[in-house]
Amino acid sequence: MLSRIKTQKRVFWINPNLGNTADVLPTLPLGFSDVEQADYLWDRARLLLKNLFPELESTQGIIESPLCRVPEIRAMLLPENIKGDLFIKADNYLPIAGSIKARGGIYAVLVIAEKIAIAEGLIEAGDDFDLFATDEGRTLFAQHAISVGSTGNLGLSIGIIASTLGFKCIVHMSHDAKEWKKNKLRDNGVRVIEHKGDYASAVLAARQQAAGDSRNHFIDDENSKDLFLGYGVAALRLAVQFSIANVTIDEDHPLFVYLPCGVGGAPGGITFALKQLFGDHVHCFFAEPTASPCMLTRLAYGKDKYASVYDLGLDNKTEADGLAVATASELVAPMMEKLVSGCYTVEDEGLLTWLYLIHKNAEMKVEPSAAVGLAGPSLFLKSPEGQAYIEKHNLQDKVVNSVHVIWLTGGEMLPDEEFEPLRLRGRETVRDLLEETYLL
Ligand SMILES: *Cc1c(COP(=O)(O)O)cnc(C)c1O
Repeated sequence: MLSRIKTQKRVFWINPNLGNTADVLPTLPLGFSDVEQADYLWDRARLLLKNLFPELESTQGIIESPLCRVPEIRAMLLPENIKGDLFIKADNYLPIAGSIKARGGIYAVLVIAEKIAIAEGLIEAGDDFDLFATDEGRTLFAQHAISVGSTGNLGLSIGIIASTLGFKCIVHMSHDAKEWKKNKLRDNGVRVIEHKGDYASAVLAARQQAAGDSRNHFIDDENSKDLFLGYGVAALRLAVQFSIANVTIDEDHPLFVYLPCGVGGAPGGITFALKQLFGDHVHCFFAEPTASPCMLTRLAYGKDKYASVYDLGLDNKTEADGLAVATASELVAPMMEKLVSGCYTVEDEGLLTWLYLIHKNAEMKVEPSAAVGLAGPSLFLKSPEGQAYIEKHNLQDKVVNSVHVIWLTGGEMLPDEEFEPLRLRGRETVRDLLEETYLL
């Protein structure tokens, strides 16, 4: 596998350390009550969010995305013997930020705002947040800054909510960040600082700038429990959506989830909470670009062997800007060691082909980072590695009724002039990809 990783070839790694969920969860530093508390905070924020963002009127202030059945995609991805459902979890449609970062990023800003509001006597612990959107609230938050380092989407999500609440906001962007994301932030009054370096250097710059200033609150994407838990609430919402859709997850109906992974917070938080809910009946796979397989190599080879994907001779340059991360989060990776079922990588041409196919079949506009999830079901169900996993876990009889969820993580805000060239590149390579991923 190592030589394939180093030469940027696609790999599918099955985690040999996957444990029994019931044994693993009690050893972790966070528990289910932390996810429930995060859910409760979102609840206190509903009226505030509804007042600030008219698009949340119809959901009464809940930021959530649809769980979609797309028959054309199901027919393409699942072999005929599988009777279970295939869903698209369409976080590309998440309101306010158009990506999965609307979960973690907005949550992390609300946690900071609540602390300040309680400390300054604007609200009391347990109160709803509607007073945040008053002159008093804005005047209070205007005395504070929020800083973050990002490849684009986290900065976008944090910048929008922080500036809307009245905070000063400073977003440090890595070289990968797209121009349109920076411009959108500047239009919102956010200060954008551009860096020549990668994701880790943008995070470092933000950390250093905020250090020592008690009024500058740094949201650390490499090490934030708040981001992790904000993402984790998605699992509770997914469970509700399953019950509305009459989908049961149990021993005879296992769930397989395919999650794009950058530093690990989003897929990690969701996996953590899904495992709390569904135990051994949920199997989570992380998806990364071949240029940036930081979580795969961290979990497969440990913390010390390769400090970053650069040590493997990779360049961390990919069209999947949201996943261009060279070193996995050391908050998240240790928690995933025994929870994640496996990781796979996809090369950029593959990502773009999936981007083309999901647009063609479901009229969904996704960004390259989001498209990586779509490769999961066929890799799992049709590859030798996937078959070995099925046998090892005695799933031969159960896989017929398996349920698959592909997490699409962003793209709705992508301007058409950015999307169209990506789509055309994907169309050019569509045939090669389908052959190679066992689809034809
Ligand atoms: C950030 C991001 C991810 C992955 O989240 P991490 O917390 O970095 O692992 C996936 N897809 C998109 C579109 C993203 O912006």
